[in-house]
Amino acid sequence: MSALWALAGVYCCRVPYLLSFRSYSLAFRAPVRTAHGVWSRREGYVVRLEGPSGKSGYGEAAPIPGFGVETPKEIGATLARLGESVSREQIDALPERLGCLQFALTTAWAEATAAPGGAADPGAYLPLAALLPAGRPALATAVVKGEAGFRTFKWKVGVGDAGDELALMDDLIAALPTGSKLRLDANGAWNFRQATKWLERCAERPVEFVEQPIGPSAKGAEDALAGLAADYPTPVALDESVSTSEEIGRWLDRGWPGVFVLKPALMGASSAIARRLQRQKAAVVFSSALETAVGARAALRLAFAWGGEPRALGFGVWPLFSDAIFDGPHLAPFIRRSDVESLDPERVWTALA
Ligand code: MG
Repeated sequence: MSALWALAGVYCCRVPYLLSFRSYSLAFRAPVRTAHGVWSRREGYVVRLEGPSGKSGYGEAAPIPGFGVETPKEIGATLARLGESVSREQIDALPERLGCLQFALTTAWAEATAAPGGAADPGAYLPLAALLPAGRPALATAVVKGEAGFRTFKWKVGVGDAGDELALMDDLIAALPTGSKLRLDANGAWNFRQATKWLERCAERPVEFVEQPIGPSAKGAEDALAGLAADYPTPVALDESVSTSEEIGRWLDRGWPGVFVLKPALMGASSAIARRLQRQKAAVVFSSALETAVGARAALRLAFAWGGEPRALGFGVWPLFSDAIFDGPHLAPFIRRSDVESLDPERVWTALA
């Protein structure tokens, strides 16, 4: 019996699936400001696999420049090298460095080989976090989003004067509906002293976590982040520090007690690392990598499959592209499983022709 199963496994792994791919360069509706400058066009690839039965699946490789992942050029070269067909064995043999392409191909593979039938529990839903602009404009946006029903808010800090921003935090908390949670995202902008000042201030306030208070490339960053997580009651979240699954693994080895912000689109064949995070009961926030509806659907499916404590999703990014056909679900305080399943990757594929 076991020999038979082994044979079946080898057969399945070696069966070639037809591979096609389309590159994209899509304008954002509004340029995105990042630590690496202003970002106005999203570049990546959508892949399509078709099995012997004719069933197909789609996936997206959406690398973010400056996040330690591969470039669109490397993805294009690898896809060209793979040619017109690819086996599971070849996908699994892709180097770890090509995490975005691994994510695309494993997603497409899973879909092309999935058993028929709809998603379990289509009425399941998850909350979304509302994004607030930096500085004082956050106050007005918080009121509007609060009225719309959002209860988790994410505020960009470390942008203006630290003293002004600290003073503004209490006004912002006062503007939020009762029972709301505030996430602060510093994007690594603070030094250790500034970070301690903020964490002291957050201690008795409804702050869910402080995200990336210190950048991953700052001197002694790992020890400093671990120290902050140990010394203050408000959890610390890692985002820029954990963009690849190798980095997630390293922080898991270290016993990181805080939150992991996961961008599934960047973390490779995500099932292995997701299982490890689950086993270690890690606190996880699923987050957008500013991908199209194809990658967003795959990332959100993972979020729905996650068994841990449901936290508000970091997917409050839409509408995102100049051409709305590439956008994920309509932005609302909650996202339903059925909203995710109704995203149509074929529409994106056709639009890229
Ligand atoms: Mg972040």
